This record gives sequence, structure tokens and C-alpha cells, in this order.
Amino acid sequence: MTAMREARTITIIGGGTAGWMTAAALGRFLSGPDWTIRLIESDAIGTVGVGEATIPQLHLFNRALGLDENAFVAATQGTFKLGIAFDGWRAPGHSYMHGFGTVGRDLGMLSFYHYWLAARLDGMAADSLDDCLIAAVAGRQGRFARPDPARPAPAGGHNYAFHFDASLYAAFLRSYAEARGINRHEGRITGFERDAETGDIAAAVMEDGRRISGDLFIDCSGFIGLLIEREMQAGYESWQHWLPCDRALAVPSADDNPPLPYTRAMARAAGWQWRIPLQHRTGNGHVFCSALMGEDEAAAILLANLPGRALADPRPLRFTAGRRRSVWVGNVIAIGLSSGFLEPLESTSIHLIQSGIERLLKALPSDRGSDAERAAFNAQAAAEMEQLRDFIILHYWANGRDEPFWQDRREASLPDSLQQRIDLFRASGRLADGQGELFTPLAWQQVMIGQGLLPDAVHPLAASMPKAQRDELIAMVRQVVASQSAAMPLHRAFIDTNCPSTPRERLAS
Ligand SMILES: Cc1cc2nc3c(=O)[nH]c(=O)nc-3n(C[C@H](O)[C@H](O)[C@H](O)COP(=O)(O)OP(=O)(O)OC[C@H]3O[C@@H](n4cnc5c(N)ncnc54)[C@H](O)[C@@H]3O)c2cc1C
Repeated sequence: MTAMREARTITIIGGGTAGWMTAAALGRFLSGPDWTIRLIESDAIGTVGVGEATIPQLHLFNRALGLDENAFVAATQGTFKLGIAFDGWRAPGHSYMHGFGTVGRDLGMLSFYHYWLAARLDGMAADSLDDCLIAAVAGRQGRFARPDPARPAPAGGHNYAFHFDASLYAAFLRSYAEARGINRHEGRITGFERDAETGDIAAAVMEDGRRISGDLFIDCSGFIGLLIEREMQAGYESWQHWLPCDRALAVPSADDNPPLPYTRAMARAAGWQWRIPLQHRTGNGHVFCSALMGEDEAAAILLANLPGRALADPRPLRFTAGRRRSVWVGNVIAIGLSSGFLEPLESTSIHLIQSGIERLLKALPSDRGSDAERAAFNAQAAAEMEQLRDFIILHYWANGRDEPFWQDRREASLPDSLQQRIDLFRASGRLADGQGELFTPLAWQQVMIGQGLLPDAVHPLAASMPKAQRDELIAMVRQVVASQSAAMPLHRAFIDTNCPSTPRERLAS
């Protein structure tokens, strides 16, 4: 039997971050006469346009496309991100970091944090792991350098991601995709034609009567889910009972100069506020729960807490935390906001686009795909979203604030999967290391400890280490972290040397 090869057409619906990331990746990996890739977008409808903070996994995507990192940062007014500072989540005035990279130095069979926990339970005065990781210390000092892979942890043990202007990123990827033969079609889709036999989508019908066909359709149409929901009725599983924030107001402000090399997530009375520094401006937003706070009050809080003058009126966005019940139905695969939404507390949405694309390429069907392929694909997508959901819920649950919203979050029931993780940690200090999970114990330990969750008992090997030896280990780590951080250039200087946006469009505050 010979493998059948016939030319196939993939039609991407939507030209936001999801659409152009998908187009760039397909242009890179599905080139040649066997494939026709098209993208339809409507300038009149526009994009969500927020989504400016990322996580380190984006390196893999950029590398797969062969992008030059400095060129990419310069083209998107980008800055570097060492982690996220969570201000006021444990209590007003408190702050801890979820930094990228290693924490301390592992010893023997145990991760460093076990020794830290043993010392903490013995009375060590510290309320987060911050001074044991380079990403946190360098971040607080406003310093940045790329890690040196030759250095063992903790020296060199940091990682980083990016902040960027989402619309410039989409434009950057559009040039990349169009240079690789992706055809862009501008206009509003008003309907779809279906195959009478299979029920699959045969073509998108445009407002002006054009008909754009495809064998496989990738729904990147945003929250509306034009194909996956409106046409294919995949259904939506709401997680609002766990994540009740359902509104955001986004506003750019003048330069937060010099730009911090980390995102800030600041707890507010009924939600939280983000601050994302770019080269030419700062992205700000207030995520809040509309059942407890009106839009006017939310806007007033946001505008009173900007690092510089507002450059526009706050833009409202509505959402429901949750996931599409199936992200692959018939010949439609949803990627991006059309597949579900988690608030940007851990900057996971762009990563979900990336992993959706990776899943698509790995599972690319030879024709319309079988039910078995769809089921496996949908199960993987669901598991991934659920892991991220649990991590985000943890931030809300482990809070120490007094407002009614935060009291409710503390008392809310948790998904079983999260409850089990917390129970294990409480009982033993251990963290489940799920295969292939995005957030590893390095992330969980920082958030749990940073928000004041300590175990009742620690690992016996850490507990039995002589106190002097344990103290020496922690002191060594702190000293190396401090000296490595201090040796880094200032973030602004690193950008100016390596990847300034040209022309520099910095706005005076
Ligand atoms: C408040 C908020 C903050 C966020 N912050 C972050 C963050 O910090 N980090 C992060 O990773 N992610 C973040 N995100 C998520 C991020 O914005 C999205 O994941 C990303 O922008 C992808 O969006 P999208 O491409 O799926 O949809 P969209 O940007 O909405 O694009 C949809 C596309 O579909 C097209 N379209 C729709 N209907 C039609 C039609 N009828 N005809 C033709 N074209 C059509 C539109 O024109 C557009 O091109 C945030 C999201 C929100 C809401």
C-alpha cells in the first residue's frame, strides 16, 4: 500500500495572535506544493489586542520558526521577563515572585526547597523563596542578562520570557507567514457551507459573496468561536465557580521608565491588576468580578494605579473562564481564545496557542481524521487546560486578604485534582510532578510558599540534615544568587545594547 499524497488546503479563520502564530508555524512546516494555507481576517472586526506577557516556552516556538530573538524583541517593542511579582496576594503590603528558572541548588535526592522548608519550620525568618533564585533577585534590582548555560545552578540558573506589543507580534508573524506563501483574505465571514454527507465545513462564505474553501479549518476567531461553537456547537465548560472574575479593563500608559524585567500582578479588592512594561509604553489592566464590583469603580481603581498618564480610555473585555468541551469537531480545530480562556494571571494564553499548534502539527490527520484521533486530541487539550486552571485557582485560594471577594475565594471548594496537590504538600512538603505538565514543582513551590502555605512536616532527609549544614547551604545559595544578580547589566541597558526598537517611539510621561 502506498501513502496517498494529494494537495490539501488548510484555512485559518482569524488573524489575531492565534491566527498569525498558526499561519507562521504552518508556513514553516507545511511548505511546498502539497499544501495551500490561507488565513481570513476582518480589519473591521479587529482583534482582542491585549496579551502582552509570555512564559519561557515561547523560546521553543521562536526557535522552531528560526526567528532572531533580538530582531523579534525590537520589532515588538519587547522587554524581557524574569517572572511575575504577586503583590498583596498573601496580605496587603506583601510581595513575592514566581521567577523563571531554578530555585537554589538541589542536593542529593532532594530539591532545594525541602531544605528551605526544614529551615523555615525550624524558625528561619523568611516568607518566600525570593532570595534563593536569580530571577527574583535580579528582577527586583531591574537587571537582566541571558543565562549562561555553562554555569551550574544557582549561578546562571534563571530563565526568561518576553513582554511585547501583541498587535506588533501579530504583524511580525504576518510578514513571516506571507513570505512563506500564506494567502491572506480580508473580509467578514457571514456563513459557512457544509458538506452534505459528513457535515464538515466545505467553505467560508464572505460578506461580498466570495467563497473560501478548505479541507481543514482552524478556528482562530477569538471568544466568539465562529466555527467551533457557532457552527459545530462544541459546547463550553464554565469554570466560573472556581474563577469568578469575568471582566477586564485594559489601558496603556506612558513609559514606566526604566522598564521592569518582570510582570506585576497586584491584588485588588475584587480581582487584580496587571502591569506589563514595554519599550514604548506600559500595558495595564484590571481583572475583576462583576458580581462584586461595577465597571466605574474598577476603572477608577485602575486609573488611580498607573505608572504614568493613561494613553487611552480603559477598554472593557468580558470573558468566562472555561474551556471548549471539544477543540476538534469534524474538520474544525480551535486554537486561541476560541478554545477556552483562563485569565492572564500566569500569562498562559499565548502558550496555549503554541501548544495547540504543536498538537495540531503532531496530530495532523491524513484526511478529515478519525473519531479516535479527535478523542485523543480533545483529551490532551482538556488535560492541559485543567492543569493550568488548578495553578491559577491556587493563587486565589491561598490568599490572606480580608475583602469579601478574597474571603469567598479562601472558602470556595477546589477541584479534586488541586485539593490532592495541596493535601500532599501540607502533609509532607512534597509536590506531585505530573508528566509533561507546564508548571513544574519549581512553579508550585514558589506560589505555595510565597502565599504562606507551609507543610506540617518536611521530608525526613531534609529534617535530619544537621542545622549548621542546612544553614550553610541556604547561605551559600543566597550569596551566589546575590553576586550573580549584581553582575548583570540593568534591563534598560541590556535592551539598548541588544534590541532597541527603532525608531525609538518612547513617549514622555
Ligand atoms: C484581558 C485579557 C488579558 C490578556 N493578557 C494576556 C497575557 O498577558 N498573556 C497571554 O499570553 N495572553 C493574554 N491574553 C490572551 C490573548 O489576548 C489571546 O490569547 C490572544 O490575543 C489570542 O487571541 P485570538 O487570536 O484567539 O483572538 P482575537 O485576537 O480576538 O482574534 C480573532 C480574529 O478573528 C477574526 N474574526 C472574528 N470573526 C470574524 C468574522 N466573522 N469574519 C472574519 N474574521 C473574523 C478577527 O478579525 C480577528 O482577526 C489576554 C486576554 C484578555 C482578554
